Amino acid sequence: METSGKKVFLRVDINVPLDPSTHEILDDTRIKAISTTLKQLEDARVILGSHQSRPGKDDFTSLEPHAEVLRKYCGQKVRWIDDVLGPHARQEIGKVQPGQVLVLDNLRFCSEENIDDRPDKLVKTHLVKRLASLFDLYINDAFATAHRSQPTITGLTELLPSAAGRLMEKELGAVSTLLLEPKRPCVYVLGGAKVEDKVPVIEHILARDKADRILLGGVPAKLFLRASDVKVPFDATEISNYELFLERARKLVKSYRDRIVVPVDLAYEERGKRTDHAVDVAPSTDTALDVGKRTIEKYSKIIDGAATVVANGPLGVFERNGFDWGTKSILESIANVKGYTVIGGGHLVGLATIHGIESQFSHVSTAGGAMLSLLAGQSLPGVDALVRAAARTRGSANDS
Ligand code: ADP
Ligand code: MG
Repeated sequence: METSGKKVFLRVDINVPLDPSTHEILDDTRIKAISTTLKQLEDARVILGSHQSRPGKDDFTSLEPHAEVLRKYCGQKVRWIDDVLGPHARQEIGKVQPGQVLVLDNLRFCSEENIDDRPDKLVKTHLVKRLASLFDLYINDAFATAHRSQPTITGLTELLPSAAGRLMEKELGAVSTLLLEPKRPCVYVLGGAKVEDKVPVIEHILARDKADRILLGGVPAKLFLRASDVKVPFDATEISNYELFLERARKLVKSYRDRIVVPVDLAYEERGKRTDHAVDVAPSTDTALDVGKRTIEKYSKIIDGAATVVANGPLGVFERNGFDWGTKSILESIANVKGYTVIGGGHLVGLATIHGIESQFSHVSTAGGAMLSLLAGQSLPGVDALVRAAARTRGSANDS
C-alpha cells in the first residue's frame, strides 16, 4: 500500500504488564515489536491506537507511559493526548504531519471499544463512524487482539482501505509454518492454568497430524493424567467444566496414546519445601505445583531431538519459590534446539525475557489467546476482516 502522506489509523496491541502501584511498564516487548511497522510508516501521518487492560482492572490506565517508551523505538516525533475521539482528539488528529505519530489514549476508555460483536453491528458505533471519517487508511498490527471482534479491530476494517502491519504478518507467518509443514519431529509443550484453550489445540493439531509429541505440564497435565486413570489430586476449582474436558481428554488419550506425553513425577509442597513424587504416590490431597525432576529429564530429551518446538503456558506455578524448575529447565532446553522454535503466552515469554534468553527462540509471539485460537483451527475475526477488505480493494481495482 502507498502510505506516504496518508492519514493512517494504526491499531496495535501495546497492552503491557504494569507495576500495580506505580504503573511503571515492566516489560516493553510489545512496544518494541511494532517498531518495524512504524519504520515503514515514516512518511505517513500516523495516529496510533491501543488498549491497556480492561475496565475494572488495576492496570486499566492511560497510554502516556507507553508513548514515552515508544519514543525509544521509533524515529518519528511521538505525541500523546488524553483523549480518544472527543473534539480535542479530532482537532489533534487533523494537525498530524507526515513523519509524526500521535498516540490516542486507551481506546477502551471509550466504552464502545469493549463491545465484542459482529462487524456489521460495530460499524454503527459512534467510535467507528467518527474515527473512520478522519482517515485514509487502516492498518491492523494488533495480532494479540485479533481474536476479538471489537470496533477498532473489525469495525474500522469494514469502512477503510485496510492492510495488515508487519508484526501481524510475522505472527501469521509463524503460525502458518506450524500448521502447514512443520519440520518433524514437531513437539508441543503445553502448560499453564487454562485447559479450555489448550484441549482444542491438542485436538486440532493431532487430527491434522501436525505434531509428533505433546508434552503436558501445569493444569492440563493433571487433566490428562486423570484421563489416563492416574488419580492425581487437584483442586476442583482449577478446571471449569471438568467433566466435559475429562471426556475430551479421554478420547484424545485413547486415539493418540503414544503422542500425548504426561509427567512421570510431580512436585508438591510439604512442610514448606518442594518434594517430588511419582505420579501415583501423591503425598496429600494438595494439588501438585510443578512437574518433577524425572519428567524434566524425560521432556528435555524429547525436546533435544526435535526439529520444531512450540510452547505455551508454564509447566508449574513458577511464581512460587522452588516451583519454577520445570518451566525454566524446559525453556532452556527449547532455547538450545537448533530447529524452529516458537514460544507464546504472557507468562512464558515474560520468563524468557527476565532470563535474557528471548533472542534464542526463532519466534517469540506477542500473543497468547490469538495464537492458540489459530492452532485450534479457528479463524481470527481481525484477520477475516482484513481478508474481506483486501477482496474489496481488488474488486474496485478490477472495476476501474
Ligand atoms: P499463559 O498466560 O502463559 O498462556 P495461562 O494463563 O494458561 O498461561 O496460565 C498461567 C498460570 O498457570 C500461572 O499463573 C501458573 O501459576 C499457573 N500454573 C502453572 N502450573 C500450574 C499447576 N500445576 N497448578 C496450578 N496452576 C498452575
Ligand atoms: Mg494467561
